[in-house]
Amino acid sequence: MSATIKIADHVAELERMGEKILNLSTGAPHFPTPPSIVTATMQALRENKTGYSDSRGIYQLRKRLCDYYNEQFGTNLKPEENILITPGGKQAILYCMLSLLEPGDEVLIPSPAWVSFAEIVKIAGGIPVTVDCNSENDFEFSLEQIQKVVTKKTKALIINSPCNPTGKIIKSNLLNDIHQFCKKNNIFVFSDEIYDKIVFSGYEHSSLLQVDQTLQNSVILNGFSKTYAMTGWRLGYIIGPSELIDGMVKLQQNSVTCPTTFIQFGVLNGFDECKSFPQHALNSYQENRDFLLKEFESLKNFRLIKPEGAFYGFIDVSKLSTDSVDFCFQLLNTCKVAAVPGVAFGNSGEGFIRISFATSKDALAEFVRRIRAIWG
Ligand code: PLP
Repeated sequence: MSATIKIADHVAELERMGEKILNLSTGAPHFPTPPSIVTATMQALRENKTGYSDSRGIYQLRKRLCDYYNEQFGTNLKPEENILITPGGKQAILYCMLSLLEPGDEVLIPSPAWVSFAEIVKIAGGIPVTVDCNSENDFEFSLEQIQKVVTKKTKALIINSPCNPTGKIIKSNLLNDIHQFCKKNNIFVFSDEIYDKIVFSGYEHSSLLQVDQTLQNSVILNGFSKTYAMTGWRLGYIIGPSELIDGMVKLQQNSVTCPTTFIQFGVLNGFDECKSFPQHALNSYQENRDFLLKEFESLKNFRLIKPEGAFYGFIDVSKLSTDSVDFCFQLLNTCKVAAVPGVAFGNSGEGFIRISFATSKDALAEFVRRIRAIWG
């Protein structure tokens, strides 16, 4: 049983015993889904948009998304070829790895990284190769670190910016260097951009599409879960070269058939009316992040990596414990706070914990009060 599951089980057990746990472990926005999307989805149901859709996803939504990227980045994405709508971003990563990898292919993952990347690579028969980033350098990585671990079996590199769990953003010159190097060495770059609209002031998100407009060896993942507070709806998409997308369509056709039809219509018809929602959510994350940065200045036993995007605080607790699982149990038992142990994101995350600050300011103030009371 993984450490994170053990902690989740312990949280559930404490809650059953009547304890109130301050749960900062979940990576989901604390807002409800925008009402215009809910209303448009209900309308789609009333209009009986309840049958199967095209396996690639409804054409109108694919076109909307392609138009958006083409306008923004001068690309020439075609709704018939370059995009697949999926039931969530996670499923899109699974399709991508299943279509791309042969048994024994290696996939490079700069780490700490979101837990599912390595697991999905393994499910697809590949071998995840972590590129351990240095905490002293706030987990920034360089092209040289990637070059060092490339072998003849390297098939792909997974990047994620803004990053879950560190909140770091890959700067455009590094992105460009990564693309050039990978193109030369026939390595696919898989860019998870699911937090692209959660970027704090002073920082900028660069999409892989900006540096590889013709999608030679690039795949881009995105979705609605984080930007539109829709984690339970399950809707994501993947953009890539047509041959790769065709392979993924076969996987979708023969597994789930299509993403839920009325949800696709709900998003298509609802999102014009909630264009301001991502900014409204971002304002709240920005406030929470600034609050935490300020508070952590005076918490001498903790160091918060400065989040540049996403809504996670990656906190160095190594002055108190070098065993992040053990520390999370202490945090749970003494402060009644649930967090994720850093080691769950790879060995380089050991000595850290991850909290989500997609929550109320009051909850964060209470978190700080409780840890200050015990560990100063
Ligand atoms: N990618 C990253 C980096 C994530 O953190 C998550 C969810 O936590 C996902 C992808 C998957 O999102 P979903 O499957 O809800 O679209």
